Amino acid sequence: MAILRITKYGEPILRQKLKPVNYADIAPKLPKLLADMEETCLAVHGVGLAANQIGLDYRLALILIPQSDEENAPLKRYVIINPVILSKRGEKLEEEGCLSLPGLWADVKRATDVTIKYIDENGVEQVKRARGLLAKAFQHEVDHLDGKLFVDLVDPKLKPEVKKAIKKLRSNWD
Ligand SMILES: [Zn+2]
Repeated sequence: MAILRITKYGEPILRQKLKPVNYADIAPKLPKLLADMEETCLAVHGVGLAANQIGLDYRLALILIPQSDEENAPLKRYVIINPVILSKRGEKLEEEGCLSLPGLWADVKRATDVTIKYIDENGVEQVKRARGLLAKAFQHEVDHLDGKLFVDLVDPKLKPEVKKAIKKLRSNWD
């Protein structure tokens, strides 16, 4: 396994809308790729990691999320390949961060309840309804695969402030 470098805000691949992949083409690479993505995500205490955050143009993301609200609950891994959000409900303003913008936290509006369709790591199509943190993670990761970042969703009035904060933080990124 290996810890991969995470691409940072400003790198063009984060703004690419990634095209669906053919599962059979990427299947042989998946075991190592997913192990590396999981190790990378764990190393930085992330909730999710999209392929373009490690420089790959696959429409694929990995999510690691506690199975329950209990402290030290085991993490459940979701691998979402070619995900599509089928429906969204509710709305909540909550603080969010991103591994590609380390050090920045800002409030963004997300749906509280989403239904998503994707291919899992075994090549099986799944339709899943999610709420809470998982719903948020699905939306954040699908946005990544569409070339969007959470800061795009920040209230326009706060954008100048966010821009300033990013400028300051950037000097610390690798
Ligand atoms: Zn992110």
